[in-house]
Amino acid sequence: MSGTNNPLYKHYDGKFEKQEQAYPGLQNKMHPVPDCGEESYVGNNQLKGKKALVTGGDSGIGRAAAIAYAKEGADVAISYLPDEEADAQEVKEVIEKTGQKAVLLPGDLRDEKFARDLVHEAEKALGGLDTLVLNAAIQQFEKDIRNLSTEQLTDTFTVNIFSNVWMLQEALQHLPEGGSVVVTTSVQAFEPAGLLSDYAMTKSSQVAFVIAMSGQLAAKGIRINAVAPGPVWTVLQVAGGQPQDNIPEFGQNTPLKRAGQPVELADTYVLLASDKASYITGQVYGVTGGMPINS
Ligand code: NAD
Ligand code: MG
Repeated sequence: MSGTNNPLYKHYDGKFEKQEQAYPGLQNKMHPVPDCGEESYVGNNQLKGKKALVTGGDSGIGRAAAIAYAKEGADVAISYLPDEEADAQEVKEVIEKTGQKAVLLPGDLRDEKFARDLVHEAEKALGGLDTLVLNAAIQQFEKDIRNLSTEQLTDTFTVNIFSNVWMLQEALQHLPEGGSVVVTTSVQAFEPAGLLSDYAMTKSSQVAFVIAMSGQLAAKGIRINAVAPGPVWTVLQVAGGQPQDNIPEFGQNTPLKRAGQPVELADTYVLLASDKASYITGQVYGVTGGMPINS
């Protein structure tokens, strides 16, 4: 049924093969490889002249946002872990083919100094910064709360929440009036799974962060919003994000009965970064295949 506009069948809707990688994983080793819009996203100058930093822009949803931003006319810096260089190089190639600037800034967001410096490095390399996408995250399942280590708890909260705060603090030195911040939260903020308790806690904290910040940022003429994806086919899920038994039917419990592809998130990230979203701040946009985020 490919080629159809019926959302049930528009993208891969079959079972996934079990496949396991170590965190953070490489999306170029997945099968099928997620669709991040490399070929499928078509731009229309909606972000002409913008300069964006996307954390975790090497793969998955961040990669789809980074590619769409470039295809819409933005210069883009991405951050990622050094182990993800192969994925990052692919993104650089796609961005450069659009004629936009691609800046690669590898490093670990568990390191406060790296997280803070990253914002300034991106601003310097891009010659400005008006869009900040806080998208990088750790998701490692743990079925029994008694086995949740302090190390995992600390890493998950540091990357998913602390680094968001650190980076926003630094970015406020650069973001101009009309600037936009987009935070990737999750349907897990609203329907937390028992085996993702630490992750879900950080995702609901991100919602509180975005709503809490919207007033402060509004006073500066800057908007901040969140995107809450449902189950999306990315390497996060096969690199410790889910038990292998959940992989074959991943996403099939949604009303649309399949996993989303990262490119299906791209337009929402574009809208929230664009000047067309001038009356949108402090909101959470669900792109969930129909899973509720407001009940
Ligand atoms: P992904 O693995 O492709 O992207 C996550 C990225 O986070 C990695 O590429 C990596 O660069 C970055 N990252 C992880 N640990 C890091 C660290 N210590 N330092 C620096 N960077 C680090 O997976 P994805 O699914 O595209 O995830 C992107 C966002 O989407 C995350 O915020 C995730 O919580 C959210 N999300 C994903 C799903 C899904 O089903 N895939 C659902 C809801 C929300
Ligand atoms: Mg990655």
